[in-house]
Amino acid sequence: MPLGFLRSVRDQTAQARTPAPDAAPPAPAPRPERVAVLSEVEQLGVGMFWATDALGNLSFLSQRALQDLETDGGDLLGKPLVQVFSDIDSEPGAPTQRSLSFKLKAHSKLEEQIVALTSARGTTRWWRLNGRPLIDAKGEFMGYRGSAVDISGQYIYDTQVARQSAVDELTGLANRRKLGERLTAMLGAFRVSKRSCALMMLDLDRFKQVNDTMGHPAGDELLKQVAQRLTAIVKDRGEVGRLGGDEFQVLLPDMDDRGTLGELANRIVQSVSQPYTINGRRAIIGTSVGIAIAPYDGLDTDELTRAADMALYSAKDTRGGTFCFFTSDLRDAASKTAMLGERLRDAVDRDELSLVYQPLVDPETNVVKCFEALLRWNDPEEGSISPALFIPVAESDDLIIRIGETALRRACFDALDWPETIRVAVNVSAKQFTRPGFHKTVAAALESSGLSPGRLELEITESVFVGDLESVDAIFGDLKKLGVRLALDDFGTGYSSLGYLKGGHFKKLKIDQSFVRGCTENGDINPAIISAIVALAKALGMETVAEGVEAMDELALVRERGADLVQGYIYSRPLTQEALLPQFADGTMKVTPEGPARHRAERISMYRKVGLIHEDHYYDVIMRNLSKTGARINGLGGVPIGTDVVLDLGHGQLVVSKVVNASESSQGLKFETALISDGGGGFMTRHRISPYSLAEAGIPLAALGAGAFPLAKWRDANKGLPRFIQLDIGI
Ligand code: C2E
Ligand code: CA
Ligand code: CA
Repeated sequence: MPLGFLRSVRDQTAQARTPAPDAAPPAPAPRPERVAVLSEVEQLGVGMFWATDALGNLSFLSQRALQDLETDGGDLLGKPLVQVFSDIDSEPGAPTQRSLSFKLKAHSKLEEQIVALTSARGTTRWWRLNGRPLIDAKGEFMGYRGSAVDISGQYIYDTQVARQSAVDELTGLANRRKLGERLTAMLGAFRVSKRSCALMMLDLDRFKQVNDTMGHPAGDELLKQVAQRLTAIVKDRGEVGRLGGDEFQVLLPDMDDRGTLGELANRIVQSVSQPYTINGRRAIIGTSVGIAIAPYDGLDTDELTRAADMALYSAKDTRGGTFCFFTSDLRDAASKTAMLGERLRDAVDRDELSLVYQPLVDPETNVVKCFEALLRWNDPEEGSISPALFIPVAESDDLIIRIGETALRRACFDALDWPETIRVAVNVSAKQFTRPGFHKTVAAALESSGLSPGRLELEITESVFVGDLESVDAIFGDLKKLGVRLALDDFGTGYSSLGYLKGGHFKKLKIDQSFVRGCTENGDINPAIISAIVALAKALGMETVAEGVEAMDELALVRERGADLVQGYIYSRPLTQEALLPQFADGTMKVTPEGPARHRAERISMYRKVGLIHEDHYYDVIMRNLSKTGARINGLGGVPIGTDVVLDLGHGQLVVSKVVNASESSQGLKFETALISDGGGGFMTRHRISPYSLAEAGIPLAALGAGAFPLAKWRDANKGLPRFIQLDIGI
């Protein structure tokens, strides 16, 4: 056929119905022999070719492609690619693929992307696409150039085979189709009987790394073992399935207690994170879990799945290796994180990040042994932003490498001005640690500052022990040669495998704050955990640090249990270099512990509008602080002590409370049942009021996400006389 590649590009772009005004200029004319080869390739039936302009509109389809779709192209060219090619539902066994529109927006390469198309006569065809973005010399995106193969025959056959089976062949678990059907049937039936049902969505952390370094058969074996562990934990409480790739799902009928669900999710995270042996090699992976509960978070399959997915993304964003419940705030949080990323990049360019130093003190002598360097971001508008917020954002990006290197260099220089007996500890993120050449960065920081290597300590968390452990061992070897010390941070919170402690890499073990804070409360098992960690560390020749000590009784406890060092507000908050320099008298530094005698239940200060129900009245109040066991509110006058009220925290969370102290416009409430931790530093109720009950009260049936305070709608229906004075709360 004489019609060459080039001519057909020109003809067809000219025919396009809506040519883009600033479409990319046509690609440079290919040499004639290339044109001939392309058209021969096409004639052989090997492939078809397509292209888009810079706006993502289809600008070219080769002749065979047009024949395949039984069209002359007039109906397709000029249309956005995502309208012509649509995503397929991923089938069991098939690798899960990111959506086409996601990839196009990101201008990423298309590799073996399977899409569906409708021919001019209305029949569906399936194509496997490959394509790459065309970038011009100035770095501008010019459009896609790609090829395609029609795989309709095979695809129809494969889907039929998959349809006939409800089982994931690799693991023997329920497959995506079966899970979908089960969930839909369950939600339908439960709606009638007003029962609840939880959905957990799991995604393995760093599975890809194992798959890439150890090979696909090893990856398959790993997935089988994960499936076995999940089934062993869930037992007959629910159904475990594999959606495809490294995604799993658990359906749990009649489950709406967020306390129980959190415990189960935690056990799943712990179990999946234990080491695996595959063909004699060790590997560790982690998992993140997102949880949504019907009817609270979603009424139908789509809504509930979307909610669980969003919770999963949030869990992954936090730090991986954790779980997260769906809340309707998650949507806003996702966009906030994206904005934070951009601002952080600017802040790094403008040098707005600095370091502060918190002492690690010997509790027997009150002598400072070390300072931990902690980052601070002083944003001109927002004030000081916590590293707990921005480090995860930096970690999702290579920005952490820049930030980490700067902090390391700065800390080495600052430490030179301290007494020689005091060490400096620098936090190193897993991404920074496992990057090739990390030891060279450390060596360079030591060399340029002249700090002796024995004075530098690197704090890393258990998350570095994930993936292929052999390469992690090599990094330890390199650092050992340099002579720096390693500390294991946040011990007890991560992948909790003790095997790697035996490697003798660590000089120091930092007991996580969550075991220390509140450890003096009655009935707490944390003192026993602290003792066990100290004993373990001693046996392995490691020093222990108790982190986050705030009260005198906590200090006494960790000292008595044998912690070698203490870090916490009881001794000092982190200080700037200027503030600490004058404190070095005669080559040492001592600090006296100062703080409350006892630990007090954690209270979060806030300024949040919530509801308060008394008799048949609904009042608006402002919540000023919240702890697990109580809250302080503003906005009502004339409320006697002893009054029973119900606090509406939104999203169906009702808390039965009693007024235990009161001033003119402010009251202290004590909760009948304590709240539980939401896994992200806040509190929530175990149970929520069901949308079914709300529907019975005349509020339209909907998942709780949309209206934060569905109960406020009762107010208008209840016009009895209010017993208290509603003050103007101004929001
Ligand atoms: P971390 O390494 O566990 O650091 C200890 C955190 O506990 C610090 O929070 C410190 O200010 C806080 N803290 C210490 N004593 C107490 C106490 O008695 N009570 C309470 N409530 N908190 C206490 P900070 O500075 O907000 O840092 C948070 C996390 O950010 C750090 O946790 C660390 O994981 C990360 N981070 C900080 N600086 C760096 C850095 O330079 N590089 C990397 N990769 N991560 C960093
Ligand atoms: Ca640390
Ligand atoms: Ca820590």
